[in-house]
Amino acid sequence: MDNNNLVKTINSIAKVIKENRAYLTDLDQAIGDGDHGINLDRGFSAIVDKIEDLNDKDCGNILSTIAMILISKVGGASGPLYGTAFMRAGQIAKGKYSLNNEDGLAMFDAAISGIISRGKASRGDKTMLDTLIPAYEAYKAGVEDNLDKENLIQNILVAAKNGVDYTKTVAAKKGRANYLGDRSIGHQDPGATSSYLIIKTIIDNLA
Ligand code: ADP
Ligand code: MG
Ligand code: MG
Repeated sequence: MDNNNLVKTINSIAKVIKENRAYLTDLDQAIGDGDHGINLDRGFSAIVDKIEDLNDKDCGNILSTIAMILISKVGGASGPLYGTAFMRAGQIAKGKYSLNNEDGLAMFDAAISGIISRGKASRGDKTMLDTLIPAYEAYKAGVEDNLDKENLIQNILVAAKNGVDYTKTVAAKKGRANYLGDRSIGHQDPGATSSYLIIKTIIDNLA
């Protein structure tokens, strides 16, 4: 993936978030305050307005610029968390005009560490981490096993999707849904769902 592909990918993410704005908001209505799709769409729409200026920048520069927009525009819990994730990934991509799997793994790892250090959640708490961590693990294992691109992609998507489904089976330990206790069981986490959509869109742009 080069810097121009990265800009295209971010545009695609913005489009997918817009298409799923109502869906994400409905999920958040059930166990939160019903704004997750609205929050993310506000942030990614602001990114789209800026993105053409970023076309010739390096990948790190692109990612840190969009991170700042997410932090300033999205709000809620997810804004600072996704903002930190993109910021950390951008630090790894600093000065690079193209990214390989080694970069991708380091960026994904840094993004997850950033979310954990900011939000203090763990895997299993019914958050975006329940999608991101299994997806990262599948990515890492697949690269180590030298999987071909098709199988690698397939494994990452299955792991991410299983992570989303898992969130339906547990009570939330973090975020607003935590206030519901066991009443959050049976509901799919909105942040885990948006993370799945983001991963799927990145992969679709690589394929
Ligand atoms: P808010 O809850 O402030 O309205 P959003 O609705 O935009 O924010 O985002 C809610 C999502 O944020 C949740 O579905 C969950 O996935 C994620 N989330 C909340 N708190 C945390 C946390 N501490 N760590 C990781 N993810 C979190
Ligand atoms: Mg919310
Ligand atoms: Mg909110």
